[in-house]
Amino acid sequence: MPHPVTLGRITPTLERFDGAFLCCTDCNAVHRVARSDRAPVYANDGTPTSVDDFQKFSTAHADHRFRLLHRSGDAEMISHARWDPMCRIAWEVSDGENSYVITFGRSDLDRTREYAVSPGHMKLESETIRVDSEVFHRLVDEALFPHAAPPRKIDALLEKCRRLVATLPGDGYEPIDELRDDPNVQLACLPDAIVAELRVEALSLFSRDEAQRLVEVIEQDLRTSIPVVLIARHYRIDSQL
Ligand SMILES: [Zn+2]
Repeated sequence: MPHPVTLGRITPTLERFDGAFLCCTDCNAVHRVARSDRAPVYANDGTPTSVDDFQKFSTAHADHRFRLLHRSGDAEMISHARWDPMCRIAWEVSDGENSYVITFGRSDLDRTREYAVSPGHMKLESETIRVDSEVFHRLVDEALFPHAAPPRKIDALLEKCRRLVATLPGDGYEPIDELRDDPNVQLACLPDAIVAELRVEALSLFSRDEAQRLVEVIEQDLRTSIPVVLIARHYRIDSQL
């Protein structure tokens, strides 16, 4: 919907646009569409309470014109842990034709989120992909318990995993989670191609018994449920003002 429209035209169908942003083109004010139309504010002790902020917004901008903006990609910049009420977030959004960057966050715990939108893109500035060696070691130790394989064999397997992970570009991984305290770092399991090669390496490095247990861990835990790959992405805002 590239052409701005009045609030009266959007409101009857607003429920369909849960999570989208209404941007007033007259004064650049933004409201996030929520099915409940309620956004929490936090009291001094951190207790969330609800306020109906859509009514206030629609009254203040009754005769103005609006763009409806939807998130247009996975790019995200986030300042703090996601659970932190003070975290600031930037996303790329679009009205179907033009790209904008929206940033939102609170200036104080007892304030509602404030939004700012401007034309622009989010560009990937850096991407670092690495293996969480602590998790890797723990899984291998658990698989071999109560025995322990020589550390040099375990290190060789980890090194192989690192080399394989380094050869695959970031879009070859499917993140299943993010670091709790730094959501700019996503967590992914090992893709099938890496699992297959790591399996071969385990079979060649370890005894038959050990390899069998390690292959189970590689093909089940590392492939489907325990994310051992950490992908850190940092973006910059390419403003078009
Ligand atoms: Zn307005």
